[in-house]
Amino acid sequence: MPNPIRLSNLERHFMRGETAVYALHGVDLTIQPGEFVALVGPSGSGKSTLLNLLGGLDRPSGGELWLNSLALHSADDKQRTRHRRQQLGFIFQSFNLLPKLTALENTAVPLMLNGVPKTEREGQAAALLEKVGLGHRLHHYPTELSGGEQQRVAIARALIHNPALILADEPTGNLDSATGAEVMALLQQLNQDQSITLIVVTHDEEVAAYADRIVKLRDGRVESEQVSRGRDEQVSRRKGKQVTEAHPGVPAALTPASSPSSPHLRFSDILRSALGNLRRRPVRNVLTAAGVVIGIITLVAMVSFGVGVQKEVQRNFETIGLENIFVNPRYAETDAFDPFATPKPERALTPTAVREIAQLPGVKVVTPILDLPRGANIALLTAAGESIPVRVSEGGEGRFSFGGTNEVLAGQGIDEGETQGIVLSNQLADTLLGPEQRYTDLIGQPVALRAELPRGESQEFPSRIVGVRQSFGRRTIDLGLAERAAITTWWFGQPDLLETEGYNRLIVRAESLGSVTAVIAAIEDMNFSPQSFEAILDAANQVLALLQALLGSVGALALLVAALGVANTMLMAIYERTREIGVLKALGASRREIRLLFMVEAGLIGLIGGFVGLILGALLGRLVDYIAHRYLIEEGVTGVGLLSVIPPWLALGALAFAALIGILAGLYPAARAARLDPVSALRHE
Ligand code: ADP
Ligand code: MG
Repeated sequence: MPNPIRLSNLERHFMRGETAVYALHGVDLTIQPGEFVALVGPSGSGKSTLLNLLGGLDRPSGGELWLNSLALHSADDKQRTRHRRQQLGFIFQSFNLLPKLTALENTAVPLMLNGVPKTEREGQAAALLEKVGLGHRLHHYPTELSGGEQQRVAIARALIHNPALILADEPTGNLDSATGAEVMALLQQLNQDQSITLIVVTHDEEVAAYADRIVKLRDGRVESEQVSRGRDEQVSRRKGKQVTEAHPGVPAALTPASSPSSPHLRFSDILRSALGNLRRRPVRNVLTAAGVVIGIITLVAMVSFGVGVQKEVQRNFETIGLENIFVNPRYAETDAFDPFATPKPERALTPTAVREIAQLPGVKVVTPILDLPRGANIALLTAAGESIPVRVSEGGEGRFSFGGTNEVLAGQGIDEGETQGIVLSNQLADTLLGPEQRYTDLIGQPVALRAELPRGESQEFPSRIVGVRQSFGRRTIDLGLAERAAITTWWFGQPDLLETEGYNRLIVRAESLGSVTAVIAAIEDMNFSPQSFEAILDAANQVLALLQALLGSVGALALLVAALGVANTMLMAIYERTREIGVLKALGASRREIRLLFMVEAGLIGLIGGFVGLILGALLGRLVDYIAHRYLIEEGVTGVGLLSVIPPWLALGALAFAALIGILAGLYPAARAARLDPVSALRHE
């Protein structure tokens, strides 16, 4: 600092209601570069206020304050921050080391704020700690150090970035007199060796005696100035030394003249600090993140399930082919509401109707579907006389069952049109194979089915094996239309069942996609209710999309609640760390950096919660998949793909969303932290 520090008519008052309380009442003072000044005076005389003004932590209410060429009285927040970061070292009565950083890391903080990389700054910090006699305490935390040691770390921290000015507020106030003397001797030596300007507030006369000059304040005014006893000797000593030597290794960029663009805290250090802070309160942060985890699990599991089911439905519909038309009977709308009336179709899907439809132009083939009676017990009677209970696959129309492609391994499947015969699942076929036999040997074998009425009567129906197909069902068979008709008419004791009640529904395949519309119109004219697969697919997709949106919003709601949790945690963190924020600001952290620090911390809570939620959500999806498949196989439905699918967009989206939730939740707390007034933050207990 080549020019003196000049205070002229400096005022600072605080409004207490209507009246102004003057902490400083027109102070005029000039401090020479390299001078060691002690500020003394009774409590409440304005010493700390003056120091805060010199440090740019506070603004004067009037007068001028010149530091070098900087008009600190009118400087904006940015300039004052840079002034602190580059020119200033602070030493506090209560040391104010950051509790979760080691002596080494604490010492290096000002360099960190100046954007010096970790290894470089910690190398310098180690050298400096060695110099102040703490080489053996580098990796100790503040709580593991004595008061004197802590203050020496604080001195190292105040020195590390080679400041032009060091401000110390009662640096020996919390130390015993012997340790206090050591600390003062250290400060005096630094002042002499490096000609750093040193302003020390004290009310201890012995401490003041180390200074070149003692300035006495009273009621906000300079009461007296007095040259200290040891001054002449000191000045002569300094003249002999002359040269200003900075400690080695400090980059020249730290002097403002050579750094037009202010260096700033690196993002890697922000990230490191945020992670360190998160580790300080593991339980609380885990609980906070749990909210995000639950939200993301819901979101991921549900959306992935929706995506998977949609994919599966699409795949099945597509393998079946869009030229298929589902035909159901049409039900008349009854005027009288009668909950007990069984709905009567206007026209039954009888074999006659099937023939009529088959003759329509553009129709390739008609496949009638006949559901077996619910609760029918059916057993397969083999040629060898075995009786094996079996499950008949739904609808019997193998290639139309949910699950689609069930590869035929031998013979043929139950396909379209008026089918007959039995297709065995491969697992069932395995149990029927004799030694040295293959699936093809089973084809054509005569077998019988025995159906049993609930009251015990039973009847056998002859049939033959026509095919073997791939299936997970151990006892599953597909059954032709002829056998179904035989069993159903016997079951209900109604030989003319098909002529009166008709089939359950038909699948009509058009010759081409182009003829679908005409066929639908013709079937409608016949008083049936046709529906194209395309329309069904559209409707299914709409329902699924709605389901996905609904489930997704449940997750989103959970995340909203989680966001409140994050905000709350961050606000508590700010309250606990108010003093630390004050220290960081005093050391030159800008508002932007403080805000970023808290936002990154909140974002990390979100991101970590999101990551865990993503993994658990995927696992939950797998579990649901497993259970659903077990259930479907039990029901004889096979060949179903994964129902829970996490596409990359969902994984990335979930992570980004979780982080965003954290950041958004951190916005307000971070702004609050950034706005904290450093002077009152430093007073915070
Ligand atoms: P010292 O450090 O010499 O003991 P201070 O500079 O802390 O004195 O305070 C000087 C005067 O200003 C005191 O009367 C104190 O009550 C008052 N003061 C300091 N800070 C504030 C504040 N933020 N609000 C109101 N009054 C204040
Ligand atoms: Mg004070």
